Amino acid sequence: MARILIAEDEPRIAVFIERGLRALGFTTTTVGDGVSAVDYANSGSFDLVLLDIGLPMMDGFAVLRRLREGRNQIPVIILTARSSVADTVSGLESGADDYLAKPFHFEELVARVRLRLREDRSPEAGAISYGGLSLDLRTRQAHVGARVVDLSAREFMLAEVFLRNPGQVLSREQLLSHVWGYDFDPGSNVVDVYVRHLRRKLGAERISTLRGMGYRLEALE
Ligand code: CA
Repeated sequence: MARILIAEDEPRIAVFIERGLRALGFTTTTVGDGVSAVDYANSGSFDLVLLDIGLPMMDGFAVLRRLREGRNQIPVIILTARSSVADTVSGLESGADDYLAKPFHFEELVARVRLRLREDRSPEAGAISYGGLSLDLRTRQAHVGARVVDLSAREFMLAEVFLRNPGQVLSREQLLSHVWGYDFDPGSNVVDVYVRHLRRKLGAERISTLRGMGYRLEALE
């Protein structure tokens, strides 16, 4: 599974990205300043860098320049404030592969990460499965036995978090932060609504409710 370097000095955002990517099976390391970002990105231990522009000691543009000058072609996705998108476009010219304006939806981040990893041809497993259910990460379709099921982007992400953590009880809060993000109202019932959607599409027994604890994906053959 791909290893992602997160260069982000805002703990709330760093933790959000880290948790979300780990829930999907990625390995992550977080650094909070530009000098460490260059060191870690040059270590050869990573497949992709998520690079914040406003970093202490050396900003993201300088980090990127340093990497490219040193012939390091690791895929880099810039994370930037929406107000600095114009600056970011010049960052793309200086060697970034893509950028994402904050605040972003986690599913958008994951889509970009997968796209860049694929272009880099370090292939991620094309499908994940558990107990008669499988998800095709390329077509974003679910397969239930021989049946093909179309899922919305959000439904797909929720299903993926379940499949990456098979047999585990996942709390509503965990699912909310993995799939919807750090700025979502914790009192929201959106998780329950989407679990209902998944049950309708994938089968009611596929996801069980553990009262007061959360939800669990079940193996059904
Ligand atoms: Ca920052």
